[in-house]
Amino acid sequence: MEKVLVIDANARCSGKRFATLDVIGVGPRLITALLKSYGFEAVLHPYENIINNPKLVKNYDVVAVSFMVSDIVAVQKLLKSLKRFRENRGLVVLGGPGTLDEDVLKILDFDVAFIGEAEYTFHYLFHRCGYRSFRELVHEIGNSREVPKGLAIKRGNNVVSGGLGYWVPKDLLFKVIPEINDVKNYPYYWACRIYVEVVRGCSNFCRPSITGLCSECGICNSKDLSKRVVCPAGIPPGCGYCNVPLVHGYARSRDIYSIVEEVHKLIDLGATRIVLSAPDFLDFGRDAKVQDILTDPCNPSPNIDMIEKLLEELTNIEQVSEGKASISIENIKACLVNREVAEVLGKYLKNTAIYIGLESCSNKLLNIVGRPSKCEDVLNAIKLLVNKGLRPYVYLIHGLPHEDVEDIKKTIGVIPLLKDLGVERIVLYRFRSLPRTAFEKIDKVVEAIDPEIVKYREILKEEVRKFNSYRKMELIGRHIDVVIASKHHKHQHYLVGYPLTHGPVTLIKTSKRYIGYLARVKIVKALSDRIVLGEIIHIKQKIVKNL
Ligand code: SF4
Ligand code: SF4
Repeated sequence: MEKVLVIDANARCSGKRFATLDVIGVGPRLITALLKSYGFEAVLHPYENIINNPKLVKNYDVVAVSFMVSDIVAVQKLLKSLKRFRENRGLVVLGGPGTLDEDVLKILDFDVAFIGEAEYTFHYLFHRCGYRSFRELVHEIGNSREVPKGLAIKRGNNVVSGGLGYWVPKDLLFKVIPEINDVKNYPYYWACRIYVEVVRGCSNFCRPSITGLCSECGICNSKDLSKRVVCPAGIPPGCGYCNVPLVHGYARSRDIYSIVEEVHKLIDLGATRIVLSAPDFLDFGRDAKVQDILTDPCNPSPNIDMIEKLLEELTNIEQVSEGKASISIENIKACLVNREVAEVLGKYLKNTAIYIGLESCSNKLLNIVGRPSKCEDVLNAIKLLVNKGLRPYVYLIHGLPHEDVEDIKKTIGVIPLLKDLGVERIVLYRFRSLPRTAFEKIDKVVEAIDPEIVKYREILKEEVRKFNSYRKMELIGRHIDVVIASKHHKHQHYLVGYPLTHGPVTLIKTSKRYIGYLARVKIVKALSDRIVLGEIIHIKQKIVKNL
């Protein structure tokens, strides 16, 4: 069987990661495991391992690159470095969110690209059609008239696409446990946030308001949940800037035992920071509460029993209960947070960070975007969560289509309130139109270049920066547990530590022999709105045995 090298190029932008250096995502691990399940010999490496040592590819028949649209330059550099591999008839396969953009595929040199979810497409090709290798697949499809759904190939300079892949049916979803062992190929994997998928897809099948397209037929709010899937006007489901519901479908939960098994294995390997990954963690188990498919973002309420069972099992893992590893959750939607939910999250996840999307404090804008929660819902959710000991991180976005000065002023106006409520960090994004979203076609021409808007956007950025700096200052004197990952890439006398339960990057001036240790540090200085300086109080334990 062919040997496939899976390369994780996600978030490498033009070839280097500048933020979230401590993240190991789900996608490439899942693809590696899926390939193995079809008999391929697959190995996963992060981008840096290959770009720094391209000779590694010579042992493989196929290189499979996972990337996002914003990583096109990094992928171009990678493919350029694989010239010899290509000359020796090595195949290049692309996958991940980057393949959703046909313009990106036109630019890149590849043999076959997977578009959307891969499980069904793999099943179709390697089981139903019976292809035994990528070479056979490329040869057959290259000569056939039609390209199957979920695939694209290059004919000369043209991309021939079968379109977006099918949403994975339940009997094929979560059938393999994502690759565990190759996590070791990532630098300081023991200190990284390793994402473990618990829910696929999103329940928000509301639509953004697109004037001139929407006929206000009301189907996307229908009581018949399966009717919400198709909008007669062709407007994609979900928030206007997001393609999760269109690409990954409605929310489907993973089996508790499979999640626990994966987390167990990762922790046994040395992982210390597990993040339960889902477009909305509170969708976990909610699909079991509806007869139909889960396309309503706010009703029914969360499945408290299943959430509690999962969190109980995970926090009972020895290393977690002893404080040597942490479990946290990724995103939640405000409209699903109530007193009971906050209580359960507080019981199992106290002192961990939790991400919640506010995006804007203009309800007019939130309505245009198709957000299921209003500003007040988010503020209320934050209050409940802080009350139970969680540490909310709040997303804001600027530059959305139809945003005006009043909208930005409202968002600026809510920042002091976020401070009073106890939000730990604000993550501010600039809107970028993504492929296969409702706002895909909204380009810069529509975006007002009103100098007042530009001025208020700058004020918003500055207020967020001040907020985050202030929060870092407040940390001075606090004691936190950090996992010491590496030397700092610029300041070699400092080591980089990542807080066990998430938080700011912590620099520590100490001997490099403490790399691979869990340590209690005292924060002594805020170095920026993202980084603090810490001093070791005591070393708690060595995490990695044979460094
Ligand atoms: S289904 Fe489509 S056309 Fe109908 S109300 Fe929703 S967005 Fe408008
Ligand atoms: S932004 Fe979140 S809630 Fe909105 S569609 Fe995407 S995943 Fe769903």
